[in-house]
Amino acid sequence: MKNNKQTEKLSRPAKKALQILTDKNLCNHCLGRQYGLLLSGTDNKTRGQILRNYLLMHGDLTLMEDENPTILEKTSLNSNLSKKTLERRGLNHKPKKQKCWLCNNLFDDLDTTVDQILEKTSDIEFNTFLVGTKLTPELIQKEETIWAEYGADYAESLKSEINREIGKKFEQKVDAEVEFKTPDIVAIIHLKDNTIEINNNPIFIYGRYRKHVRGIPQTEWYCPVCRGEGCMRCDGEGSLYEKSIEKTIAKPILKQTKGTEAIFHGAGREDVDVKMLGNGRPFVMEIKNPKKREINHKEIMETINQKHGDKIEVKKIQPTNRNKIKEIKEARAPKSYRAKINAKPKGNKITKQQLKKALKQLEGQTIEQETPRRISRRPEKTRKRKILETELLEQTNEHYIIKIKTEAGAYVKEIISGDKGKTTPSLAELLKKDIKCLELDVINVHYKN
Ligand SMILES: [Zn+2]
Ligand SMILES: [Zn+2]
Repeated sequence: MKNNKQTEKLSRPAKKALQILTDKNLCNHCLGRQYGLLLSGTDNKTRGQILRNYLLMHGDLTLMEDENPTILEKTSLNSNLSKKTLERRGLNHKPKKQKCWLCNNLFDDLDTTVDQILEKTSDIEFNTFLVGTKLTPELIQKEETIWAEYGADYAESLKSEINREIGKKFEQKVDAEVEFKTPDIVAIIHLKDNTIEINNNPIFIYGRYRKHVRGIPQTEWYCPVCRGEGCMRCDGEGSLYEKSIEKTIAKPILKQTKGTEAIFHGAGREDVDVKMLGNGRPFVMEIKNPKKREINHKEIMETINQKHGDKIEVKKIQPTNRNKIKEIKEARAPKSYRAKINAKPKGNKITKQQLKKALKQLEGQTIEQETPRRISRRPEKTRKRKILETELLEQTNEHYIIKIKTEAGAYVKEIISGDKGKTTPSLAELLKKDIKCLELDVINVHYKN
């Protein structure tokens, strides 16, 4: 052959395999894995078998021509082919049953591992899975030794072969498939003590809720005295309020999914004394460790609405994924509010014309809001929010009902009252009157779904 480069390449895998096997006993998996990135549609065991058989043929040739059985013996680990060949050549060779220097024949025990995973996942419903392996420091070091001494070109890692081989076996025994991005469950094999850890990933449910009454917090507010354990102050309830939106929605979902915990992610929140009307507020419920994933969303919706519909109502309940949490939070959906304000502060009637003029002035303005005095947490930096629309809806002798549409995150009560100058401009500032927001309802969250 003219091209020396080609012949050099021809012998490269064989040379490396011979070098390795001269020093160390490797099983076919570990031998083949050193060229695991070459050839498709096969596995490392077969790759190892190919290399070994080729070396045995080379060994037989060396024996015939040089009367040297070393290569045949060295490459023969547990190989029937070499035993037969040596016998035929009249050499009474008894290959020792040796274990693989690198993996200690761990690939022989994979069925046991698969059975362990099956047992651990027997009560969990899943459609997709992934296998992960935590190698021992010894295995990592041995693999690195092989790579350092003989090169790692075209080699696959031990970890990825174990994961794949177990995945293939497991897939045959369950009605589920491997999925790399968002598997339902992840089985992690700890080789140190041969234990299996199952990570059962959460499921996500999207919906919108409406709150028809005041006095219900969105998420659980624990009693400040006992922090939820129940005491005199809270009448043993653990909370000073009625059951939260979060708890009410979580209950039937946890019952169906048999999950361990439900975490509520809302597209913002309204105050406890504010109603949430209109098309409702989007939320995502995250269910940890669900035993069941195929759930009846319609039934969840009906259960909540039948039991609590006069107070809390849900709609559009449907499956979703983790990305939806970010989506509803980052949508920064504008909100429309309906507010009831006093028409006669300190006996001085605000005229319809005065109010209309002030509302018109607010429209399109960017207002600056320091953290309201009613909020007990540490003040943040000044918020700037735009008022998108205003409208006078109704008037009675004592009250006006107005509508305000703002960007997300505005403190609406303070847009009305001014909060002693902490919000500016405000309706109170423009009217130079002490006006207050007496009642507030969210009438629309402007979010597309
Ligand atoms: Zn091995
Ligand atoms: Zn308490």
